[in-house]
Amino acid sequence: MISRKNSEQLFEKAKTYFPGGVNSPVRAFKSVMGAPLFIKKGDGAYVWDEDDNQFIDFCCSWGPLILGHNNEKVRKKIEETLANGTSFGAPTKLENELAELILSRNPYADKIRFTSSGTEAVMSAIRLARGYTKRDKIIKFEGCYHGHSDSLLVKAGSGLVTFGESSSAGVPEAFAAETIVLPLNDPEALEACVRELGNEIACAIIEPIPANNGLLLQEKGFLTKLREICTQYGILLLFDEVISGFRVAFSGAAEYYGITPDLVTYGKIIGGGLPVGAYGGKAEIMACISPDGPVYQAGTLSGNPVAMAAGIAALEQCAQPGFYQDQEERTNYLVDKINAYAGEKGYAFEIFSIGSIFWIAFSDKVAIRRADEIDSDMTPFKMLHSELLNRGIYIGPSGYEVGFISKAHTKEILDTTFPAFCEALDAVF
Ligand code: PLP
Repeated sequence: MISRKNSEQLFEKAKTYFPGGVNSPVRAFKSVMGAPLFIKKGDGAYVWDEDDNQFIDFCCSWGPLILGHNNEKVRKKIEETLANGTSFGAPTKLENELAELILSRNPYADKIRFTSSGTEAVMSAIRLARGYTKRDKIIKFEGCYHGHSDSLLVKAGSGLVTFGESSSAGVPEAFAAETIVLPLNDPEALEACVRELGNEIACAIIEPIPANNGLLLQEKGFLTKLREICTQYGILLLFDEVISGFRVAFSGAAEYYGITPDLVTYGKIIGGGLPVGAYGGKAEIMACISPDGPVYQAGTLSGNPVAMAAGIAALEQCAQPGFYQDQEERTNYLVDKINAYAGEKGYAFEIFSIGSIFWIAFSDKVAIRRADEIDSDMTPFKMLHSELLNRGIYIGPSGYEVGFISKAHTKEILDTTFPAFCEALDAVF
């Protein structure tokens, strides 16, 4: 058993400062065993906690660190930028550079606006959709998480489900009433909804690769149908690519599936480990944003130069030929081996994956596409989490969360992971 003495002490102290001892709920380890590990440093595929335990990290800060921790080029670019100051509240050429890097490779957005988080990006994109269409209702899909703005905290995935709820208190009923929640991968429910309310709906927002309530991979036919229906009813299709953007392909799930949304949101990877979000879309729609148009959105630290610099250094590396293929190959290398092992042993266990995103499911189903298809008994996950930590493997502390593989997770590191993972599985079953 690893020692958590220092983490435990720090957590006790943190509880005197922060609700639940944390600044974001799932970090509290409430649905797994023991105190949360306080992380001291990260390098490549590894993190070290305050008790000096070393772990191979498959959480990767919940997705941003596609290059691993402390990537040298990202760090150097940050240091270089930092030498000139941290924030000016005025335009910098770094914003242009990051935008150019994104838009020149991205046929899915003509213009972009940077924010400081994914939540802000999505919240602003929804406002834009409402302002542009002059309609109030939105469609979201059960289990998709789109940040913590009011109208999106309805049936909203891991952060809530982990603690036994699917929607948040504190959201006025009148706001929630404008959010229509539909099941994923269900074209009939979608059709029935738009037949009744289609002309009142501003946008349909979806994680095209839903990765916040397990990994609920959609049939491509469903996403295509969603695109068609949106076009037919004048509903804007908003792909929330805060996780999938720059993760499954440079231009995210839109590129992966070849489906063009009207609006898209990014976060996580785009900031190279610093706080950045963005929303983008067709020029005509983006022209509605202030100061050109009537939809207001702003941010003191939006386009922050240090964050832009980190994003540039990260995305330049992601844009290299073969980057995404290599990510996917290494992910499949590990996932296939573990699945084969679990299969041989007859364990009801499957890791689902796409690109370099994976999700651990205690299930013998061949596909799980909807939130209600997930077995809600998280006891085996809780045990696995602890067994993995004791063997030097760090994954997110909730069975509803996905894991990530970074460029720094070399085959050698994955080869070390495999036997440890198998041992942990044997201990659970
Ligand atoms: N959208 C999706 C798909 C996300 O996964 C997240 C965060 O996990 C968000 C939006 C919110 O992003 P942030 O946590 O940066 O506010």
